[in-house]
Amino acid sequence: MTVIPEALNGTVIPGGCDTCNAEQRITRIEPLLWSIGIAHDDWCPTWQQIQALRTAPPATFRP
Ligand SMILES: [Zn+2]
Repeated sequence: MTVIPEALNGTVIPGGCDTCNAEQRITRIEPLLWSIGIAHDDWCPTWQQIQALRTAPPATFRP
């Protein structure tokens, strides 16, 4: 089991996206439960594509 050093909580790492100046943020949600989120710029085409995919029904959806 990998233990992430507590000191990494709140760390911001530049990068993570090819089309904007994204940052990766490491957050400890609970002991032993960590989240690494990528924060894109608002204008990022990749981010806009991600949002579109989240709101659209799955391609397999048939009414
Ligand atoms: Zn991006």
